[in-house]
Amino acid sequence: MKHQFDVVIVGSGLAGLRAAIELEEDASVAVLSKVFATRSHSGAAQGGIGAALGNEEEDNWEWHMFDTVKGSDYLGDQDAIEILAQDAPRTIYELEHIGVPFNRTPEGKIAQRAFGGHTRNFGEAPVKRACYAADRTGRVILDTLWEKSLQRGIQFFDEFQLMSLIIHEGQCCGLIAYEIATGKLHTFQSKAVLLATGGYGKVYKTTSNAFASTGDGLAIAFRAGAPLEDMEFVQFHPTGIYKLGILISEAARGEGGILRNNEGERFMERYAPVIKDLAPRDMVSRCILEEIRAGKGIDGKDYVHLDLTHLGKELLDTKLAEITGFARTYAGVEPVNEPIPVQPTCHYMMGGIAADVDGRVITDSEGTAFPGLYAAGECACVSVHGANRLGCNSLLDILVFGRRAGKEMHRFISTVETVELPPDPEKVVAQQIIALMQSEGKESIGEIRAEMQKVMMDDVSVFRHKEGLEEAVEKIRELKQRYRNIRLQDKGNCFNRDLLDAIELGHMLDLAEVITLGALSREESRGAHSREDFPKRDDEKWLVHTMFKHSADEGPQLFFKPVTITRFQPKERKY
Ligand SMILES: Cc1cc2nc3c(=O)[nH]c(=O)nc-3n(C[C@H](O)[C@H](O)[C@H](O)COP(=O)(O)OP(=O)(O)OC[C@H]3O[C@@H](n4cnc5c(N)ncnc54)[C@H](O)[C@@H]3O)c2cc1C
Repeated sequence: MKHQFDVVIVGSGLAGLRAAIELEEDASVAVLSKVFATRSHSGAAQGGIGAALGNEEEDNWEWHMFDTVKGSDYLGDQDAIEILAQDAPRTIYELEHIGVPFNRTPEGKIAQRAFGGHTRNFGEAPVKRACYAADRTGRVILDTLWEKSLQRGIQFFDEFQLMSLIIHEGQCCGLIAYEIATGKLHTFQSKAVLLATGGYGKVYKTTSNAFASTGDGLAIAFRAGAPLEDMEFVQFHPTGIYKLGILISEAARGEGGILRNNEGERFMERYAPVIKDLAPRDMVSRCILEEIRAGKGIDGKDYVHLDLTHLGKELLDTKLAEITGFARTYAGVEPVNEPIPVQPTCHYMMGGIAADVDGRVITDSEGTAFPGLYAAGECACVSVHGANRLGCNSLLDILVFGRRAGKEMHRFISTVETVELPPDPEKVVAQQIIALMQSEGKESIGEIRAEMQKVMMDDVSVFRHKEGLEEAVEKIRELKQRYRNIRLQDKGNCFNRDLLDAIELGHMLDLAEVITLGALSREESRGAHSREDFPKRDDEKWLVHTMFKHSADEGPQLFFKPVTITRFQPKERKY
């Protein structure tokens, strides 16, 4: 079946929806999502969205910019970070005006709370900068933007899975999607395509991410010729529920929660004397693992305690209701009286499809645009988070740059004609599906996925070193070979999860390889990338973005892109 729109957006998380509502009513817009629109992972965001409103105490956007640059370990592009911090207050008031029910201060202003790495006066002390709706911030923003999108007449294609982009003479002119309910292929012809397909935490065994976070958009763009940037930077959030990885928001520490080791010691005081438990995530995750290595995990096991008992029942019930509920349900503890067992969990991907501040996908280190192809949200790397993202800066990033991508696509579609599609655009995808369905191989999807997740967890997580990374590359390449021989159990056309699992696994294997190659090539420690064999940051050699381009014959090809530094010169990062 064929459809025609001016713009097709893949992903109905906050990035996709914010772009969609920015496109004027005179543009026809389709939004595709492989899950029902409001089940996108953005709906799971808990703690808050950052903006220097100064509602609770003095704050300004330059402090926010500085914190983000420092948090990024100086790898973030400062022109983009300036836009992020400066546009943040407008973004929040816009959300307020369209109906997002933020928590309020007693005098009726939008309430704010502390979050990791956010400080007053260039690092002096923590500042209250995160706007929030209890610990359901993503949920309320997503539902509000979805209602707004319906009002605007944006057409949703829920449970449609992107399979490939249509590229004709170097320009993106549409895509092929698979309708999950029927197994039918659909061709979408458009002047512009925006990828807003979110993160890919499912590459790792322990993650806070949704099942749908498999990185399809990145892998598909990569194969179509778009480079992937800074993929070695993977954020482990310090407080996932022990063994499960389900997130306990940083808001818990923002409201006063404390991390303790087996001696009951508040160990973060030793590592970050100024901001303690509110140090940035890369640091806190490493500190937890250092404590565990030093034998200070609880009961000799690989977890520590998050203590909220001193915060009192009322605060927990009103401001942290969701996460205390998770602790009761999944960890079997009552946070009013007992600490929560926590360990680092794979949470957020700093790397992504290389894009500029207007959402244009770029193809080289000079910033040459890929005509017709855009990316925004967690799947993109603009790069505002550099080597480590600060808490509550992702919701901000996806709304600020989702809007800018919407504006730029609107300008672009008025300057170009619809491009003719190449003949039989569905052919390659149809053949791929037939080959998977008919494969007589012996390999199981579940086993290959579990082995990939394990090797990424063992060798490519918080601490890394050369031998482990080399073994991981070898293992992933072996898994890619085995993947050619997978066999599907389900050969049907209706909600064939087996087929989609197979396709997603193929994407994740590609991304696992690039993450690992990036980590192997970067011989320094910066932000979330901590090489035990290169423990120091090396600005002379590595103050640079890594970029990988796809090559079918030779595997991913590495090149570099300079970092944009404007106001803040790199300094040692102390908290
Ligand atoms: C548990 C949790 C809590 C968080 N809390 C916070 C917080 O408090 N503050 C903060 O700033 N950040 C937070 N984050 C991070 C933030 O929520 C995410 O980075 C952000 O929501 C990503 O939004 P997105 O629009 O890029 O993608 P998502 O919301 O992940 O949406 C991706 C969309 O792409 C679609 N899609 C993917 N692949 C395909 C395909 N092949 N075909 C069709 N559709 C596809 C999906 O269906 C979905 O609609 C949190 C993240 C998690 C996991």
